[in-house]
Amino acid sequence: MRLAGRVALVTGGNRGIGRAISLAFATEGAKVVVVGRNAASCDETVAAIKAEGSEALAIRADVSREADVASMVATAVQRFNRIDILVNNAGVNLPYKAVVELTPEEWDYVVGTNLTGPFLCCRAVVPVMIAQGYGKIVNISSLGGRSGAAGRTPYRPTKAALINFTECVAAEVKEHGIDVNAVCPGPVNTDMMREITNNNVPLNAMQPEEIAAVVVFLVSGEAGAITGAAIDAFGEANPLFGSQASRIRPK
Ligand code: NDP
Repeated sequence: MRLAGRVALVTGGNRGIGRAISLAFATEGAKVVVVGRNAASCDETVAAIKAEGSEALAIRADVSREADVASMVATAVQRFNRIDILVNNAGVNLPYKAVVELTPEEWDYVVGTNLTGPFLCCRAVVPVMIAQGYGKIVNISSLGGRSGAAGRTPYRPTKAALINFTECVAAEVKEHGIDVNAVCPGPVNTDMMREITNNNVPLNAMQPEEIAAVVVFLVSGEAGAITGAAIDAFGEANPLFGSQASRIRPK
């Protein structure tokens, strides 16, 4: 098991990609703190992890709120004494909208979750990791963080900024034994993808477990050479494939 003895905190660990990450971490031997706004789905994910014989803790928190994040980290440390792994996965999206149609409230909602959230979580968790002299942080960006597109503000700008934020934090904490990386997934079949496409999920969408596998590698001992990097996991939506990108994936 690649994460035996490690303690991991996964924001948005209760659904979609985050849930797959939580389950994959547990399978690799980590104790997992599952965070989300919806307590029931956090509890359900924790129950699924415990059913497989691993330890887990559900914490209801909104990552865009400083007080929630402070309390989340205090509760996690009280229970497990350390946090080895932080995955800033919680994110929100909006239906396609032109800049001139966006409200400031919609802007703040997406920026608050997708960018302020990882900032608040790093701000609270990095001191714990520095005290340990060890840490692995993964920020879940997006293919959308690699380029802009019509109707994709503010989601894509938050994901682009998250890549730069990853580099900034990585440079600050390397001397403390902390690695910080981003993962940029292409389309993945989750609630978010179903919502923004009105259930017309692209045929080439990946499964959450495929992204979880990349994250497990990045937080394992095998990835000691990687920090300050943004790893593209575009699957068949890789722009290199052009129009072939919409083919059905062989399963
Ligand atoms: P889902 O909508 O399926 O899940 C989003 C998760 O984030 C939920 O667990 C949700 O839990 C949590 N969350 C949202 N807002 C907050 C908040 N303020 N505080 C705490 N938790 C929050 O999305 P995905 O699984 O698809 O997305 C996960 C990440 O992957 C996101 O950052 C997304 O941008 C990114 N991504 C997704 C892609 C895709 O195609 N699906 C592609 C590229 C990147 P709750 O509602 O209980 O708070």
